[in-house]
Amino acid sequence: MSFFRRKHVPRSEPRGRIDERDIMFSRWRLEPGSSRYREYYARHPERENIDQSFRDAPGLLKSGASLYHPLMFAAADATFDTVDQLHALVDGPVHDRQQDISAEELSTFLKGWLLQLGAHSVGITLLRDEHCYSHVGRGERYGEPVTPQHRFALALTVEMDHEMVRSAPAGPIVMESSREYLRSGALAVQAAQMLRRMGWPARAHIDGRYEVVCPLVARDAGLGDIGRMGLLMTPRLGPRVRIAVVTTDAPLLTDSPSHDEAMLDFCLSCRKCSATCPTEAIPPGDRIDAEGAARWQIDSEACFSFWNQSGTDCGRCMSVCPYSHQNNLLHNSVRWIIARSALARRLAVPLDDLIYGRTPAPKDPPTWVR
Ligand code: SF4
Ligand code: SF4
Repeated sequence: MSFFRRKHVPRSEPRGRIDERDIMFSRWRLEPGSSRYREYYARHPERENIDQSFRDAPGLLKSGASLYHPLMFAAADATFDTVDQLHALVDGPVHDRQQDISAEELSTFLKGWLLQLGAHSVGITLLRDEHCYSHVGRGERYGEPVTPQHRFALALTVEMDHEMVRSAPAGPIVMESSREYLRSGALAVQAAQMLRRMGWPARAHIDGRYEVVCPLVARDAGLGDIGRMGLLMTPRLGPRVRIAVVTTDAPLLTDSPSHDEAMLDFCLSCRKCSATCPTEAIPPGDRIDAEGAARWQIDSEACFSFWNQSGTDCGRCMSVCPYSHQNNLLHNSVRWIIARSALARRLAVPLDDLIYGRTPAPKDPPTWVR
């Protein structure tokens, strides 16, 4: 009868902090001969060869990459350049007169404003030590310990366009990623700026300038749970989102943390991302104890290796996930049923395979980008 029963999937709590210097983007940027390079590989000699293979590959958005497309790569590069321009705005001077406002009034306004500006979802949590990286891994502050500065964290998601995502791993995926890093980054910068103008310290955490692990903050802010592919899975868009965060001392009301057992139960039987990943980076089995928390541990080196060969950020896992289907009446009805019935979840997996294929081929990009 276990076919019909929901498997209990306990909530996973990180017991330590992640060092941003260990993530692939930070390691990839280490320059041979630099003091950062020597210091990092003195601590992690086992990573030097594999990391060098990434640096030797054509690289993200580079002309020798297998999925190179001059227009799409130039467009994505231009958008990432624009995100870089936001880095100077993530923090700034705080107005010296603090406005008197209730937590309820400010939280309601901020959420409504960000949704009106284009966010898909917004949630608030207390900032916990485990949300923060232990050390900065990028930029001029590389190597500095991260001290949690603020009391609250507001997480927001923005939707990745379905048509651009479904041709992953071709160029549209990286154009769309860059666009959503820019949109989410601009929203976070605006919200942080507004709070500082009202007299409250606030910092935006955006692509290239994170001090927090966004999916963990978003989960505790009630926006979704973390699925098999290691990404935030939202109830309406699954992993088809990008996230930004604002940390602040402004008075805010917190939301209930997410623990979507039905979604985690669906992930246990689905495994579609694992079957489709070109590098077998996503485990097909159950969650394991990784760095003190039960979770699916993706092979980030295998994943990043594909990115550097293809030149895009791949996104095949995101594109085939049944939760990534369009946010419409049909798919929302299916999401509603599978959230409530273990039997429906078991039936939904083969049904999705039947309609879309177990390992669906990428769709053609929109005609204007071909
Ligand atoms: S593809 Fe399936 S297993 Fe992978 S994250 Fe989506 S629902 Fe979970
Ligand atoms: S982005 Fe691509 S390579 Fe990386 S885990 Fe997803 S499917 Fe695999």
